[in-house]
Amino acid sequence: MKKIILVGSTGSIGKQVVKVAVAHPDKFSICALCAHSNVDEFERQLNILKPEYAALSCADAAKRVGNIPKTTAFYGGEDAVIKLIKEVQADVVFVAVSGFAGLKYSLAAINAKKDVALANKETLVCGGDVITPLAKSMGVNVIPVDSEHSAIWQCLNFNAEREFKNLIITASGGAFRDYSKEELKKVTPAQALNHPTWQMGAKITVDCATLLNKGYEVIEAHHLYNADYNSIKTVIHRESIIHSMVEFTDGAILAQMGVPSMILPIQLALTYPKRYDCEVGKVDFSKAFTLNFQPVDEDKYPCFKLALNCGIRGGTAPTALNAAAEVAVNAFLSGKLSFLDIAKVCDGVLQEHEVLKATDYSTLENADILARRQALKLISR
Ligand code: NDP
Ligand code: MG
Repeated sequence: MKKIILVGSTGSIGKQVVKVAVAHPDKFSICALCAHSNVDEFERQLNILKPEYAALSCADAAKRVGNIPKTTAFYGGEDAVIKLIKEVQADVVFVAVSGFAGLKYSLAAINAKKDVALANKETLVCGGDVITPLAKSMGVNVIPVDSEHSAIWQCLNFNAEREFKNLIITASGGAFRDYSKEELKKVTPAQALNHPTWQMGAKITVDCATLLNKGYEVIEAHHLYNADYNSIKTVIHRESIIHSMVEFTDGAILAQMGVPSMILPIQLALTYPKRYDCEVGKVDFSKAFTLNFQPVDEDKYPCFKLALNCGIRGGTAPTALNAAAEVAVNAFLSGKLSFLDIAKVCDGVLQEHEVLKATDYSTLENADILARRQALKLISR
């Protein structure tokens, strides 16, 4: 029985982790359930799972929680989530939080010598330089959940140190893949949230439309697989059936295929190297279908280029980009910024940002705070 501390249970990924746990009660037990502010969903989950511990990181929301199972010890505040990660006995901490906020939970888990099932991509995008050596020195596994990195890991036979020539990351192209630059000027949040192949949280769905998400995934792959940036390729693959590929020295390419669903990478992160029945649709080979590939048009996706440059630059650059993007995407979703201005805000913040070496969490946190401030200033102009 694998004991799981789940952080970010009320989000798109978190709900699917709960689904996997409920489908396999003989294999998984969620011993601590943590989220931020969605009280209704949190209470619903508490009463299904009846975990020993639970916490909401938003102290105000925690005051509104009433419907708790008698056997669950409940706490409020960010420190309470960190305390549960540190102190509750578990095999793995599943970090399904969105944004920079996920980094501190991943760090707490690694410092407590607990394996991390990592959905939160900002952990590696912003903190890869700190996380990777720390996990190594603590003897902790950072297990990929993002579908592309899970695909690569499967192609490497679950061995992140296995040699390869190139990693080939596939991208759906997001909601606006067939829009011209002219048409992008007027797109709305509702259109950006209408992803052609995946159902996800709002921030990552917008990041798919700008391809910032794909830039992030290149940085994640760099850290997870110790890959040079020039050995990580990206290709547009509209159908999202091939989740990524690995090319080996002899030219052989292995691909991992499946319907677009996060259930499989979530479950596999908890059961690898074993595979079990999985409540996921199957690719239907009884009908004719085609898989398409096309190169990324970098000029159409300035956020993708910004992310690649920040990854190569390293240090606090990706953190500054991420902070700017979190603020800009929020502004876009609340109608205060146009879609094309997301990239302009990110670029503006990066031009002002003094890149420092990413030596510890507080350096990253400072970079995050400064970049957020700068982004808000640019948006208000
Ligand atoms: P959502 O926005 O749907 O959910 C975010 C979750 O994080 C919610 O449970 C939210 O709580 C919680 N949360 C937010 N801030 C905090 C905080 N400070 N402390 C504790 N919990 C917090 O996001 P997704 O599920 O879509 O994405 C989660 C992460 O996984 C992101 O990094 C994303 O990039 C990555 N990812 C997502 C994929 C997907 O299919 N959705 C695919 C691959 C990667 P509450 O709702 O209670 O406020
Ligand atoms: Mg992905």
